[in-house]
Parts: sequence; C-alpha cells; structure tokens
Amino acid sequence: MTRIETIAVHGGRDDLAELGVHAPPIDLSTTYPVPDQALGGEALGEWATGTARAASPVYARLHNPTVARFEQALAALEHTETSVAFGSGMAAVTAVVQAACVMAGKPHVVAVRPLYGGTDHLLSSGLLGVTTTYVEAGLVSSAIRPDTGLVVVETPANPNLDLVDIEHVVRQAGSVPVMVDNTFATPILQNPALHGASYVLHSGTKYLGGHGDVLGGVVACSEERAAALRQVRIITGAVLHPLGGYLLHRGLATLPLRVEAASRSAALLALRLAEHDAVEFVRYPSTSRQMRGTGAMIAFGVHGDPVEVVRRLKLITPAVSLGSVDTLIEHPSALTHRLVPDEELRASGVPDNLLRISVGLEHVEDIWEDLNAALCDVAYVKSSPTDFLVMAATR
Ligand SMILES: *Cc1c(COP(=O)(O)O)cnc(C)c1O
Repeated sequence: MTRIETIAVHGGRDDLAELGVHAPPIDLSTTYPVPDQALGGEALGEWATGTARAASPVYARLHNPTVARFEQALAALEHTETSVAFGSGMAAVTAVVQAACVMAGKPHVVAVRPLYGGTDHLLSSGLLGVTTTYVEAGLVSSAIRPDTGLVVVETPANPNLDLVDIEHVVRQAGSVPVMVDNTFATPILQNPALHGASYVLHSGTKYLGGHGDVLGGVVACSEERAAALRQVRIITGAVLHPLGGYLLHRGLATLPLRVEAASRSAALLALRLAEHDAVEFVRYPSTSRQMRGTGAMIAFGVHGDPVEVVRRLKLITPAVSLGSVDTLIEHPSALTHRLVPDEELRASGVPDNLLRISVGLEHVEDIWEDLNAALCDVAYVKSSPTDFLVMAATR
C-alpha cells in the first residue's frame, strides 16, 4: 500500500476489520472508565507521547480514537511518523509556535510573506510572546538569531500563490525547525517533509475536509515533535471534535480525485484568464521538482473594481475559505488579508486588484461562463479607449 490514492482510501483504518465495522466509529465519549486508577493517572502523561499503557483514553482532551485514525492517515499521506490534529488551522499554527518557541525558550520567529492573513496577524500580534522578523525567502539565513525557534513559510502562499523553495529555506535555517503550511498544495501535490520541513501544517477546513462543513487543523511531524504538540493540545484544550475528525478522515478518501479534477479545470481557467482583456495578470503555479501538479487555486489581477466583479457573479460563491466542492472567490485585501498593513501587503506581492479563486468541481464551462460574464460586465476592456478614460478618472 504505497500509492497515494490507495493510502487516501485505506489510511487510518487498520483496526476496522478487527472491530467488525466498515466505517470508522465516531467515539463521542468525554470520559472513559479507569478501573485501575493508578495506571490511569500515569496515562495522563503518557498520552502526550502517543502511547499509554492503560488502554483507556481517560478523558477526551487527552486522546480520541476517531481523531487518532485521521491523524494516522494524514501522516501516511505526508510521509511523516505521525500527526497531531487541532480544532482549527489557527489552533494548529498556535500550537507549533507554543511548542517550538514558547516551550523551547526561543521566542523569535523568522517568516516569509505572504502568509495566510490569520497566521501573519498571529505572528505580528505578540499574543504568544514571540516577535517575528519577516524576510524574503532568499534572506532567511541572515535573519536567524540564537533565540530563533521557528521558520514559517507557505508555498504556494496565500493569497498570491508565491512559491518558496523549501529545501533552500531548510538549508538556511540550519538547526532551526521549519514549518511549511501545505494547505494550498495538499499532500497530493507536495510533501514538505520530504524536502526537510520539520512541521507540515494544514488547515483541514480547506481541501482535506473538502466540503466546507468542518473546521480543523493538523500538523504532520516526527514522534518527538508530536509529543510536545500533544502536550500543548492537552494543556490548552485546542482539540479537534471527533465529528470533525471523522469528516476530515472521510474527506481524505476522495482528496486525490478532487484535487486532480479541480486542478484540471483550474489549469484551463488560468489560461483563459491570462488571455482575457479585463485581466491584468494571472498567478498560477507551475509543476516543479517540489510540486507534482499545479493545483486548483488561481490568483489574478483585474482591470477595474474587483469588488464589482465579485458582485456580478451568479454561480461562483463569493466567500473566504477554499478547497470546497464549489468554486469560491474572494478579494484578499478586503477580507482574508485585511489585518496585514496595506503597504506590507503590497510589498509582498498582493496588490489591491487581486482576486483569489478556489476552483471547485462544477463543470469548467459553467465556471468560465460566470467568470467571463462578470469580467466583461465590469472591467475596462483594453480595446475601448472610452472605458479607459472612465477607469483612469475613478482611480
Ligand atoms: C485557512 C488557512 C489557515 C487557517 O485555518 P483555519 O482552519 O481557518 O483556522 C491557515 N493557513 C492557510 C494557508 C489557510 O488557508
């Protein structure tokens, strides 16, 4: 069982035959009988390292078997020893910072922009007691200090799909662990751990769940790093609910097919957008040594008001988030990235006219018709000098 489609379907299901069931059971217990109370007490510490001698999970904040099956499956897809799930992607980012920086007494982070707006805000806010130096990917080594506990990158980055060479960053980081947010690529297209990343993070809310109905996060890593993350999870209570664990696990089974189908549509749409008179530029990743495919996210700049383009769409869902079965579009500088200071946002390659689209599973021609109609309706078309004057005047 080594091919990704097979792992996606069968991962984390080893114990099902023994249990005599076909679908993974959802265990909703908050507490568990502990007949041997002394052994149960020891289990409190042991669950942080992943294995307790007492069979009982003791309490749902320590361990949940439904969530553990999802973690096992995700780790198999990411080629890591294990993974640790959280109640949201942001809870997962928080836990990594707490484990790598706060617990380790190294309160400095080096990060490459752009990042997901929430991550950027968390690292800038000082809320966790860390300070962050933002640098270009090529200058990571120059920003590393003796008290640097973590390097943070996203590739492809949210929202403009900037690509970062993971191996290059890992080399520059030296002994400092590197966290790669792999939410956009998914484990189907990219496995950062194979390029030296210490933490591979996903907002499971996006492609892993895939249907826009579950909030969750997960970090794939070594057993050693996972023990610290589980400890943080037990202490802070940032757990993933078992229903969420079930849905994320189920989502993995169709992940390869969903990513493949949506990527095929996205590649076609990216080409057509690039030729559209109302589009200034398109950003769409190319296949590389690092990525096995191009993905289903497109960023593009429009001539004209991006807010008006979104207002005119009839099929495409105007919403934040991504990776759902339906196509989603949003205006990053108004929504997901509004908390990043304007100048810094522009400096990191996110202009005001950028729209971000997450291509879904509708028929590609229906998506295109909707997009094309909205673009033609709103935006200035290069061949029309009158429109150009109107646009220039309203800038
Ligand atoms: C959405 C997102 C997050 C945060 O995840 P939540 O599940 O919303 O907390 C982190 N990183 C990236 C790249 C995201 O798109």
